[in-house]
Amino acid sequence: MKHNFIGGVWVQGARAVPNINPSDQRDTIDHYAQADSAQARDAVDAASQAFNAWSVSTPQQRFDVLDKVGSELLARRTELGDLLAREEGKTLPEAVGEVTRAGQIFKYFAGEALRLSGDLLQSIRPGVSVEVTREPIGVVGLITPWNFPMAIPAWKIAPALAYGNTVVFKPAELVPGSAWALTEIISRSGLPAGSFNLVMGRGAEVGPTLVNDPRVAGISFTGSVGTGQQLAQACTARGAKFQLEMGGKNPLVVLDDADLDVAVNCAVQSAFYSTGQRCTASSRLIVTQGIHERFVDAVVDRMRSLKIANARGQGTDIGPVVDERQLGIDLDYIRVAQAEGAKLAFGGHTMECDQQDHPGFYLVPALFTETHNAMRINREEVFGPVASVIRVRDYDDALATANATPFGLSSGIATTSLKHATHFKRHAQAGMVMVNVPTAGVDYHVPFGGRKGSSMGSREQGRYAAEFFTTVKTAYTFC
Ligand code: ADP
Repeated sequence: MKHNFIGGVWVQGARAVPNINPSDQRDTIDHYAQADSAQARDAVDAASQAFNAWSVSTPQQRFDVLDKVGSELLARRTELGDLLAREEGKTLPEAVGEVTRAGQIFKYFAGEALRLSGDLLQSIRPGVSVEVTREPIGVVGLITPWNFPMAIPAWKIAPALAYGNTVVFKPAELVPGSAWALTEIISRSGLPAGSFNLVMGRGAEVGPTLVNDPRVAGISFTGSVGTGQQLAQACTARGAKFQLEMGGKNPLVVLDDADLDVAVNCAVQSAFYSTGQRCTASSRLIVTQGIHERFVDAVVDRMRSLKIANARGQGTDIGPVVDERQLGIDLDYIRVAQAEGAKLAFGGHTMECDQQDHPGFYLVPALFTETHNAMRINREEVFGPVASVIRVRDYDDALATANATPFGLSSGIATTSLKHATHFKRHAQAGMVMVNVPTAGVDYHVPFGGRKGSSMGSREQGRYAAEFFTTVKTAYTFC
């Protein structure tokens, strides 16, 4: 049984729930505490009390804590990666890579704690000087999704603490194991009690408790569009700061002049790896007519060779879908696309039990062709290994199609034309643009985020994270 962590103490939840392995439903990882609203408020109490001390901690104290957490994550990457793969269903190499990333993020923000600086200017008035400094905003609520159970918490927790905030962390219901393991490491890092609190629990109960608590100065959220929009309204109503990362319907444009191997690799990597469960996944493959047939044939060839199996198995390319509910959503979209006239070129069915020796949520990645951009399959985020090809005339048609979406997270192009690559970087309506690299897969020292319906608020990651986790003060001195 794993407990919540509040005020520096492990506390039993109001309830407990099992954490089930999506690769093998017979495997229960452990039972995890579920906070109710009262316990979530206790966590806010603890974080509020701890803020006085942590907000004035020295850069060295912050560096030491974050660096220690980062070192332990890196040292235990194989073991923690196995836990992550077991509870979330991404493959072992992907999961170990994610834990490594989390460690790197803590190390990066350890350095940022030392580098925090301000400006000293002369006033326009004689004898007066002006200092511009950054201060922590207060208690922050961090609400995270299930698809990156280590990396996303890391890229919210590390900057929150680096800039002197105190934290109440609410992970997604499906992945308490990674959240608990990360918390256990943080609990031994030297961080003063109450500065970091873990409340595992139901989104609909713990979430609004944090979002509506006047002592919570800001909410950093990654999750679905619907929840994000509710949260934005609630935060706006009480004047709290918020930062939202939500969905994507990311295009990958493939032009006639593309290197076919590069294009296919970008498509298969971004659309299907991590079981397509990434907000940066390429789900619309927008392909000019001269390369369309060759591209589709090559993608289908690659899809045939993918090994779909237990996430922890040797040589697995694609693990299971995260749970039964998400599998149902994926299958519904596959039916909707077919009903709208899309042609299923490959996959789209669950794997029979006799192809796996254990019960899991296995879906063969699906590729649709003959689709157009107005179809639901091209408008709405599926969040599974499902991609569709949209045939277009030329570059201009491709760019217009890529931008014709309510989302704007990551936009990719495969081309050998400097002219088109340069034009695309300038005109793609997305927070991140990828030329000859997959739309999914980003660095940790540069900003991450989108436009339009994908994101609201300031960027995450790199030094841009300071925008959300600090507030600026301008001080005038006459002497
Ligand atoms: P998904 O459908 O992908 O699980 P959600 O937006 O429901 O996406 O979940 C993302 C995170 O938001 C999870 O930690 C979840 O528990 C939390 N959450 C769900 N509902 C709410 C809510 N009403 N208020 C705040 N957080 C919520």
